[in-house]
Order: sequence, then C-alpha cells, then structure tokens
Amino acid sequence: MFITIHATSGAYIGELVHNPVLAFLMGVISHFILDFIPHDDSKFTKDNKLRLFFVGLIDGLIAVFYLFMLRSRIDLFSLSIMAGVAGAVIPDIPWLIYKLFNAKRLEGYYNFHKIFHRKKININYWQGITIQIIFLAVLTYLIIK
Ligand SMILES: [Zn+2]
Repeated sequence: MFITIHATSGAYIGELVHNPVLAFLMGVISHFILDFIPHDDSKFTKDNKLRLFFVGLIDGLIAVFYLFMLRSRIDLFSLSIMAGVAGAVIPDIPWLIYKLFNAKRLEGYYNFHKIFHRKKININYWQGITIQIIFLAVLTYLIIK
C-alpha cells in the first residue's frame, strides 16, 4: 500500500493512543494489516528501480503534505502521533532498500513482507487504487470528525 495510507493510519493511531511506544507498535501492526488487504500497486513498484525510487519519493512527499493538511485537526508534532506515523511507515523502508539496492541481507525481511501481499483475490490495478482511496477517505474521516 502507498505510504500516504500507512502514514495516515499511523497518525490516526497516534491520535487514539497517547503512549508513543504503544502507538509505534500499533503503527507497525497496522502496516501489515493494511498490506494484507488486497491492493495492487505493483505497476509502480515492479522491476524499474528509477520508477520505484520516484514513486516512493512522490508518495512520501504526498504523505507529508497530506498530514500537514490535517494538522488543524491533529497535533501532528505530538510524540504519539509521530511515533504512530513512524511505526506505520518504517516496515516499508527495508523493503524499499532491498528493491532499490538488491540488499541481500534484507532478503529474509523482504520475503516476510511479501507474505502480506500474496494475492487473496484477483483484483486489477484500478480496483486496487480504489481500495486504497477508500481506506484513505475512511481514515481521513475518522481523523477530522
Ligand atoms: Zn508494506
């Protein structure tokens, strides 16, 4: 799933849980739960390292921009929200390093992360993007309500 959705879920967790350590751990768990939900963004992440780098960069920038848009509703710089966001985003970083640099030491983690992306049902790219947009909308609603 895109970093923007993970980061937004981390912010929501941080808003609910006022303990930074717990928010971080729940952020990590939320990452794998969200990755488990069928979504297909492999079009962006397959084989082409330059494209993967730029998609990751743009997605990261959108995530930062998106969270800043929500700052009137959440205390973005509270420790628990920053910890929730960090926990929700960090699980993709070793994955990204493995994909970009063929970091063989991270292969075990890469394979573990891949388990959550196994196809449960067949959905196409647009259905996958739609699912991600719905999750982003629901998370945003939960934050701003
Ligand atoms: Zn992931």
